[in-house]
Amino acid sequence: MPDDVSPTPLSPNTVAVVAGRPARALDSELNTPVSLSATYVGGGSLGAAALGYGRFGNPTWTALETAIGQLEGGRALAFSSGMAAVAAALHLVPADGTVLVPHGAYNGTHSLTALLAAQGRLQVQPVDITDVDAVRTALAGLAGPVLLWLESPTNPLLEVADLAALAAAGHEHGAVVVVDNTFATPLLQRPLELGADVVVHSVTKFLSGHSDVVLGAVVARGEETVAALTAHRTLHGAIPGPLEAFLALRGLRTLPLRLERAQANAADLARRLQEHPAVTRVRHPSLPGDPGHALAKEQMSGFGALVSIEVTGGAAGADAVVDAVRLWVPATSLGGVESLVERRRRHAGEPRVVPEDLLRLSVGVEDVEDLWRDLRQALDTLG
Ligand SMILES: *Cc1c(COP(=O)(O)O)cnc(C)c1O
Repeated sequence: MPDDVSPTPLSPNTVAVVAGRPARALDSELNTPVSLSATYVGGGSLGAAALGYGRFGNPTWTALETAIGQLEGGRALAFSSGMAAVAAALHLVPADGTVLVPHGAYNGTHSLTALLAAQGRLQVQPVDITDVDAVRTALAGLAGPVLLWLESPTNPLLEVADLAALAAAGHEHGAVVVVDNTFATPLLQRPLELGADVVVHSVTKFLSGHSDVVLGAVVARGEETVAALTAHRTLHGAIPGPLEAFLALRGLRTLPLRLERAQANAADLARRLQEHPAVTRVRHPSLPGDPGHALAKEQMSGFGALVSIEVTGGAAGADAVVDAVRLWVPATSLGGVESLVERRRRHAGEPRVVPEDLLRLSVGVEDVEDLWRDLRQALDTLG
């Protein structure tokens, strides 16, 4: 958006709609098109700014990166998946370094850090990121380079971490601070503004929002960090497809609307679920009794659209609920317009701190009464 339209910064709700479009000119395209080209015409006079080759850059990626970068307040780089973005960010710690990782981190992050540790690439130490003093103590006990990995709210325990306090603690120790912002999205929380060095996204989830794309992104402010991440993407080759980048940006345009509806549905369902006799625990930061409620209220501008519940009957009870739903889709993933339910411990890589009977609900934008009726009848089967 040109600076001369208004001196007032645009709301993120507007940025999601206007960022990453071609410059305004008569008959210019409104949307950046899908650019399919493995190489670009070069020549000596074009200089170093030229794209050069399809692994180095692509105009359709650039459009998506501009939008995500403006929303997070940094420079964004798109990757072929959220895990490719996670892997690139983990490479910011040198080979002898330590990664402090939330004990309930996303299972892909949990498994990848364990793999890298088994290969001798780095050390891994799990920490309770809801306890700032515990993280400080862990940092104080470490020599050598450190990367502090944060996620908030976490997947699927929905634990909320004090990002500003943890980033400050990490920096006191000279650590690189990374935040996986997949669950909150930049509309609800902007970790770079809270002091983080790098933000990671699974763009697959809320940002694209329609369960039809696998894509990732990293966002950073520091020039050296951006250069290191760019080099990682170019040399490891985990580049996004142009069509995926187009679809992700198309989805991002409606993020404010989707998220508003989905998180209102989530808060409503969380309240109702608390009253159901087959539900033993409901996790959602909107609930006044939730351990993350006060912090989320301060740190986030909304509570998000993921709800986790525990049910009677253990793993078998949870599986029975998944089998009984008709409208909710039994599937992994999250952040799409459609509501999904999954027992997380069915995955071998899921951290053991996640209860066996935990169901993660990714609440979509359907009518909340339809969602509740289906969920209630499924829970009623537990008697
Ligand atoms: C899904 C997810 C990832 C991984 O992203 P992919 O796009 O599936 O590779 C990383 N972090 C979180 C929190 C996720 O939910």
